[in-house]
Amino acid sequence: MFHKIRNFIDESTKYFLECRENVILDNLSLLKKANYCALVVLLLYGCFGAFSFRSSSLTFTYLVFFVLHGMLAFFIRHYNRRQYFSFRMVQRLCMLFVILVMSFILVISIFPFRDRPAIFFSIFIMAIGQIFIFPLWETIAVLTGFEMLFLILSFCMKTLESFAYDWFGSVTAWIISLILAYLVWEIRLREGRIRMALRKSSITDELTGLNNRRSFDEHLKDIFLICAEKREKLAVIMIDIDDFKQFNDTYGHPAGDECLRMIGSFIRDYATEEDIFAARYGGEEIALIVSGQKAEKAVKYANEIAEAISRFSFHSEEKESIRITISLGMAVKIPENGQDHLNILKEADLALYRAKKSGKNRISIYSEKKIDT
Ligand code: GH3
Ligand code: MG
Ligand code: MG
Repeated sequence: MFHKIRNFIDESTKYFLECRENVILDNLSLLKKANYCALVVLLLYGCFGAFSFRSSSLTFTYLVFFVLHGMLAFFIRHYNRRQYFSFRMVQRLCMLFVILVMSFILVISIFPFRDRPAIFFSIFIMAIGQIFIFPLWETIAVLTGFEMLFLILSFCMKTLESFAYDWFGSVTAWIISLILAYLVWEIRLREGRIRMALRKSSITDELTGLNNRRSFDEHLKDIFLICAEKREKLAVIMIDIDDFKQFNDTYGHPAGDECLRMIGSFIRDYATEEDIFAARYGGEEIALIVSGQKAEKAVKYANEIAEAISRFSFHSEEKESIRITISLGMAVKIPENGQDHLNILKEADLALYRAKKSGKNRISIYSEKKIDT
């Protein structure tokens, strides 16, 4: 039981890290819609209440909350025009909306009719916890806080008979709301798992487990801009297995696949640090992007990889031990703003071509004047 709760908490924390962009988009879109709904409902019920109950305090309450929701709508509209909403800002605004709604319901449930049980409180406490994506503990804290406040105020301000109805109705609704919040989170985590698996498979190469070409292109574009902005070095290393066609022709494609899998697994373990990004660029080509402080050590990394792979030994069906070698081409530069990010890739490719031309099993580094091998 304890283990299950721990898993649940861990998974929901991970959900906020991995699906952050979705949480921002979903919560913001729900907030805008819910706030407009609140404005319409407050206006309609306010007018209806003013004519039917003829209570000036009730009409005033509707008016105050209509203005507060109007200010929230105004803020969202104008903030959105000037800058993007951060995760924290969206979560705070959603929480503010929940607090506004529940405060309004609390006020109209207690003050205008002290001899009548509350109608709306139970309905709202069940619904409000399910609208936005908050960590489960935050939902529980808000629902419980308002439930307690309601019970205290009802006990102090209302007749005993009304309090008895309020107590029974709202406590039942509060329990149901907590169960619903838990169930909604279970569904959300299931959907989050599918989303993460889909995302992973869309950026991963199936055979080697490395990032695929698409994620390589995206990463290169992003990191090029970041390095240009920070005036930091960027290195691209292109790796190509030597005479791989012959390897396939001699030992068969399944052996070739196994060889790619082993090299992929080695590079995956090698490139675990944040500034080293490895991808299968094409058939038997693997590319590495090294950025930040680590770009200074790109030549060292290239040498280590070449040496480690030359020591690999594969076994054919006849148990024969097979060795392979790789050629590497690399380019290192501080990117300039406005430059095409594909240039560094072309340069690394040119260096690789040079490494192949000058005998394979070597590293070639691109420089503006010449290529060093
Ligand atoms: P070089 O030293 O000049 O790079 O020669 P090479 O034979 O490695 O290069 P070439 O481009 O002529 O051939 C690449 C080979 O890589 C051809 C193809 O059969 C093999 N290859 C590409 N993708 C895969 C794969 O997924 N599995 C297997 N088994 N082989 C692959
Ligand atoms: Mg090739
Ligand atoms: Mg090759």
